[in-house]
Amino acid sequence: MARDPRFDVLFEPVRIGPVTAPNRFYQVPHCTGMGYRRPQSLAALREVKAEGGWGTVCTEYCSIHPSSDDEPYPSASLWDDQDIGWHTLMVDKVHAQGALAGVELWHGGAASANHYSREVPLGPASMPAGVNDPVQTKAMDKADIRELKRWHVEAARRAQRAGFDIVYVYAAHWYLISHFLLPSNQRSDEYGGSLENRTRLLRELIIETKEAVGDTCAVAVRFSASSGGEDDDQDTEEPREMLELLSDLPDLWDITVHDYSYEMGTSRFVEEAGLEATMSWVKSVTDKPVVSVGRFTSPETMLRLVRQGVVDLIGAARPSIADPFLPQKIAEGRDDEIRECIGCNICYTGDQTGTPIRCTQNPTMGEEWRKGWHPEQIPVKGSDAKILIVGGGPAGLEAAVSLGKRGYEVTVAEARRELGGRVTLESGLPGLAQWARVRDWRLNQITKLPNVEIYRESVVDEEQILEFAADRVLIATGATWRRDGMGRRHEAPIPGWETPSVITPDDVMAGLTPVGPVVVFDDDHYYMGGVIAESLRRTGLDVTLVTPANEVSTWTSHTEEQHRIQARILGLGIVLETGASLVSVGERTVVLESTHTGRTREIEAANVVMTTSRLPQDALYHALADRITIQRIGDCLAPGTIATAVYSGHRAAREMDAEVPIGVPFRRE
Ligand code: ADP
Ligand code: SF4
Repeated sequence: MARDPRFDVLFEPVRIGPVTAPNRFYQVPHCTGMGYRRPQSLAALREVKAEGGWGTVCTEYCSIHPSSDDEPYPSASLWDDQDIGWHTLMVDKVHAQGALAGVELWHGGAASANHYSREVPLGPASMPAGVNDPVQTKAMDKADIRELKRWHVEAARRAQRAGFDIVYVYAAHWYLISHFLLPSNQRSDEYGGSLENRTRLLRELIIETKEAVGDTCAVAVRFSASSGGEDDDQDTEEPREMLELLSDLPDLWDITVHDYSYEMGTSRFVEEAGLEATMSWVKSVTDKPVVSVGRFTSPETMLRLVRQGVVDLIGAARPSIADPFLPQKIAEGRDDEIRECIGCNICYTGDQTGTPIRCTQNPTMGEEWRKGWHPEQIPVKGSDAKILIVGGGPAGLEAAVSLGKRGYEVTVAEARRELGGRVTLESGLPGLAQWARVRDWRLNQITKLPNVEIYRESVVDEEQILEFAADRVLIATGATWRRDGMGRRHEAPIPGWETPSVITPDDVMAGLTPVGPVVVFDDDHYYMGGVIAESLRRTGLDVTLVTPANEVSTWTSHTEEQHRIQARILGLGIVLETGASLVSVGERTVVLESTHTGRTREIEAANVVMTTSRLPQDALYHALADRITIQRIGDCLAPGTIATAVYSGHRAAREMDAEVPIGVPFRRE
């Protein structure tokens, strides 16, 4: 199908200093949890983006010197010549696809505690370093500043030798250069105090980097259009003055905002194009091209932003992770096939936990090299086996799509009228509407696969499965929340759990309306406890959220949401009991116990929502395991995230009739 000619503008080349981007699709620097530790995986990941049509593909943050070491978070590095080879690997692959390669040179300053290198962290002043680490930076003297500039130039030269087309000066977020820019920099020399002085280091770095590599490389600056503030009160005055001072010095402005949790906010908190209002002034003060992000998945939004002169290049990290072939799909008029990012930030948890990136929507992300998975290609079927999938949640639907694409004859039986399983239910909770995209993309794909048939409102039992006589059966029946409160804290049922007042998130999502006061006991620690509390509070109930952790939804610190969730919970007037466990349930009361002191107290609770752990719905599997070829996938195999369910369904489809390595099931670096 030909594309709508209105979108032609997205495929125009854009000149960036000495280089030309072949189109406006620009994969901005984003972390992968791979960095210098897993260069082969990284090169293959970036290659797939370039193959999918991203005209520019950048690295993650790339440390220029051992005094900027982010361990245990794996960054890239260009500390010395030894690092060049691994970058060349990526650059060559990106170039072979006709795209530009960019490198985000980075010095972390106070953000780096240097756990690995044991070098002293650096800052414009002596300030606390790392993430609550008990160390401070050394206040940089003039000699340190000279050294910093030398490191940057040397790293830029190495980048040039590796073949990069774009070299960054990273002046945003909470890293070294941004600490010089902020009003808190009150050094008494020419690098602090006045706005001009605070901008001096950045100016010098741009000039010196251009002098060093500007003959072949464009020099981009990543810069915050706001110096902080709440979402609706972003302070853009100073950044604007600074940008006016530097205006046409770099070849490209990569515009972001100071607050990372806003820049890459989850869909629960930040809409598509969330930065637009904060940065729409930038192009009026520079003639150089501008790129910015906004979780763009809609070609209409992209077109509007280019037409209105907000950006020249469509920046994307997450949309390129969820769908590395997004540009190609627009190019071919297949935009209905874009696998849209759902804004869950599971991709970011890889970096946060020092492990390779994964994505809820795209199960091949991070598996390109180690498993040879490609987001758009899958081997043809290995037999004529007929396949029955029981359950149409994320695992079942992903397996159906992938097996369907392999050419198998697939039947899906789903008990409910609505497909999508947990995704459909959870997308009805506050802020999670976009999660339905996990279902919608798969259903759309299935409409194009005549060999996949879906039966709704079909509760399948043991006999029916036997009667159907499929060659292979995949059980994707999911999991249900436990009512007895067992989980991390309690290894036995909580006394009183059988009281009718005890309900679960499944009951709430099924439409049961509790009466107040309600206690939500959250021993799950991801989003569910917080979002159920929010949902009930919004109906006007008095809600107390009890969690043994010291903060609400503690695992969401990995998705950059935790403080936003805590602010929302408190802002809604939900009573938050942290460091507390639920130890028994009475008629209209519950007993809480401090996890620190063991002291107990009773509070009123007409309903209790147990959000502790889940039980796999695997009875069908166990009934048939010895009789037919049957396998469990998704939450039925092991309850987890939506990402793990999708991955599980995809893996089962890939491995059907395929040779799977015995032992370690993937290549290692
Ligand atoms: P997962 O995350 O592993 O995909 P979900 O809980 O999201 O799991 O989805 C499981 C789906 O299986 C739900 O839509 C549920 O209605 C369906 N299901 C459960 N038991 C049966 C059954 N016996 N027959 C058909 N569908 C079932
Ligand atoms: Fe988007 Fe979630 Fe995938 Fe990240 S993990 S790219 S936020 S769908």
